Amino acid sequence: MSAEPASDDPVTPTAVHVAKPRQCLRCGTPFSSSWAGERICGRCKGSSGWRQGVPAEPANGTRR
Ligand SMILES: [Zn+2]
Repeated sequence: MSAEPASDDPVTPTAVHVAKPRQCLRCGTPFSSSWAGERICGRCKGSSGWRQGVPAEPANGTRR
């Protein structure tokens, strides 16, 4: 008999992309993120203007 938990992997490679339950940074609603960088739920993404809360990078550096 093996006394292994046989449940969660003790060592999870960061390269693997697995859907994990995360909280949306916008509404705080728990959702399944497709990847590690996914922190906005589809609902907020679908809504226009969800980027307003995110510091957008300057598209053009032409600022006088
Ligand atoms: Zn959201």
